[in-house]
Amino acid sequence: MTRRTGLPRIAIVGGGIGGLAAAAFLRREGFDSTVYEQASRLGEVGAGLVVAPNAARQLRKLGVLDALRERAVQLDTGWEFRRWQDGTVLSAENLADACERRYGEQTYTAHRADLLRVIEALVPPENIVLGHKCVAVEPGARPRLRFADRQAVEADVVIGADGVHSVVRGALFGATPATYSGLCAFRALVPAEEAPGFARRPAQTLWIGPGHHLVHYPVSSGEQVNLVAFAPAGDYTMESWTATATVEEFLAEFAEWDGRLVDLIRAGGTPGRWALLDRAPLSHWSEGGTTLLGDAAHPMFPFFAQNDPLVANGWIYDYDPDVALGRTALA
Ligand SMILES: Cc1cc2nc3c(=O)[nH]c(=O)nc-3n(C[C@H](O)[C@H](O)[C@H](O)COP(=O)(O)OP(=O)(O)OC[C@H]3O[C@@H](n4cnc5c(N)ncnc54)[C@H](O)[C@@H]3O)c2cc1C
Repeated sequence: MTRRTGLPRIAIVGGGIGGLAAAAFLRREGFDSTVYEQASRLGEVGAGLVVAPNAARQLRKLGVLDALRERAVQLDTGWEFRRWQDGTVLSAENLADACERRYGEQTYTAHRADLLRVIEALVPPENIVLGHKCVAVEPGARPRLRFADRQAVEADVVIGADGVHSVVRGALFGATPATYSGLCAFRALVPAEEAPGFARRPAQTLWIGPGHHLVHYPVSSGEQVNLVAFAPAGDYTMESWTATATVEEFLAEFAEWDGRLVDLIRAGGTPGRWALLDRAPLSHWSEGGTTLLGDAAHPMFPFFAQNDPLVANGWIYDYDPDVALGRTALA
């Protein structure tokens, strides 16, 4: 574990978005930390994410927003809700005009790997220790981390950023399994050249129907369209960025929907499938020198994801009746 003299030893468990961002922010404040990640390499896994203005502000503070913008897509339209049978627009929000004026930043969509890469670049490689699966934490004034097949380490501060199945959370507050929500997410990426024009626009579009919804937006400088769809999970309980389904399974959930959407699903590669988990909120996240961050502290369903600030603050959408009446063609 690296440490400058006189500074606390800080260990971060988990090298996801939360753990790496914590290491980057600590470094910005003059603190070294060591990230212990179970995977043997930092992941290309995952698909699209919406980077809302509050997240963009943090990336600007870190000095990497411009780097992300090179691979991200700046949205002109957000929360464009469409009816499942025929694509009629129910409401839409003009982000191009309103977002920066209200929040000082734009809204972006990005591939998770692109976001991870720009944050990882801020953390010296020697401060990221791969292949370290934390199996136990002995909390206390000087917490001790134990790893599978690796030497234990002691630290002054431990930050558990190890996701929804957090070992650190279990050590602090008792190891209880996450609750299955009964919902799952299908995720797929469609090459832009195989996606119709309506899905290539810099827009976050949500198709709403009975028991299901599907969201799409462009990522990777517009080279790909990200699809994420929510459906009843049945017996499916696998929660992983890397678990897959078949295109047929994905299509079966949306069989009766607008044919243009069905074609978009068909154009995607092998979809990921992810059972959505939930946990009851904790009253506090820290004990002694150990604390939690990100999904380890407070996992949320993706459809709360950085929930739109215009909605959260009760502002009425910029509401164009032509759009609302569904006269916007899906090219
Ligand atoms: C389908 C879906 C769509 C989403 N869309 C959005 C969105 O649009 N916008 C948004 O803001 N959020 C979105 N989210 C949520 C977002 O992905 C998570 O909130 C975020 O990834 C959590 O980051 P994290 O670093 O806390 O945890 P994770 O990303 O889960 O990272 C945890 C890391 O810890 C490692 N780890 C786990 N256990 C151990 C261990 N025992 N020892 C060592 N390492 C360990 C893992 O390998 C991983 O690298 C979405 C989530 C899902 C499932």
